[in-house]
Amino acid sequence: MEFNVLTLFPGMFSSPFNYSILKKAQDKGIIRIIVYNIRDFTQDKHRIADDYPYGGGGGMVLKIEPIVKAIEFVQTRGPTEARVILMSPQGKLFCQKKAKELAKESRLIIICGHYEGIDERLSHYYVDEEISIGDYVLTGGELPAMVLIDTVARLAPQALGNEVSSSRDSFYHGLLDYPHYTRPADFCGRKVPEVLLSGNHQAIEKWRRAEALRRTWERRPELLKEAPFSMEDLELLSKISS
Ligand code: SAM
Repeated sequence: MEFNVLTLFPGMFSSPFNYSILKKAQDKGIIRIIVYNIRDFTQDKHRIADDYPYGGGGGMVLKIEPIVKAIEFVQTRGPTEARVILMSPQGKLFCQKKAKELAKESRLIIICGHYEGIDERLSHYYVDEEISIGDYVLTGGELPAMVLIDTVARLAPQALGNEVSSSRDSFYHGLLDYPHYTRPADFCGRKVPEVLLSGNHQAIEKWRRAEALRRTWERRPELLKEAPFSMEDLELLSKISS
C-alpha cells in the first residue's frame, strides 16, 4: 500500500515512521510512504506556496496551483488512481471503521494544510474526502496525516507480522480490547488474574471476551449499540450490567 503525503514540512515525517512495526513494514515493501514537498511544485523563483486571503483578515492561505500540480504528478506515477484525502478539522471524524475502509485502497494521497487552511477550490474539485482526527485545531495537517497513516498502515495485510493481529484491538469488532498482563505474575502483591495462568485456553478466551464487554460497558457504553453480539455475549452483558 502506498501513502503519498503532500506537505510544506517533509522533514517532520522522517522520524515517526523509522521505528518498530512501520519501519519493518516499509523494509519488507508492505507499505511505502512517499513525502512530497508542496514547494517543489511551485513555479516562481521564491517557491511561494501561500498567499493572503481574499477579503482580508489575518493568516495565510495555501495556494491551489502547487497542490494540484503535486496531485497530478502523483497520479501519473502509479498504476491506479490514488484516493485524495485532505486532513481538515472540518472533515469527517476519523475512526477504526474508516481506517479499515482506507486500508483496502492501494494508493492514497494525503494533503496537509497549514496556516488558515487551503484555498477552498481544492477541496471542492480535487479532493475525494476531508478527514478530521478530532474536534480540535492543530497547527498543521502533518500530525493528523501521521495518525491516519499509522492507523491505516498497521491494517495492511502482513504489516503486523503473523504473530500479532489487529482484529483483537479496540474498535475492530466494535468493542474495547480486554486487559493485558505480562510477567511477573505477582508484583508487590498485585496479582495477574488466575485464569490467565491456568493454561485453559477456552476459559481464557471466555474471560477475555467478558472483560472486553465489561470495559466497553463501563467506559464506552455507546459502542455497544453497534457491536455484533452472540447469545453468550448477551448473557455475559446482562450479568455485568446488573
Ligand atoms: N482555519 C481552519 C479551521 O478553523 O477549520 C484551521 C486551519 S489549521 C490551523 C491548519 C491545518 O491543520 C488544516 O488545514 C488541516 O490540514 C490541519 N488540521 C488542523 N486540525 C486538524 C484536525 N483536527 N484534523 C485534521 N487536520 C487538522
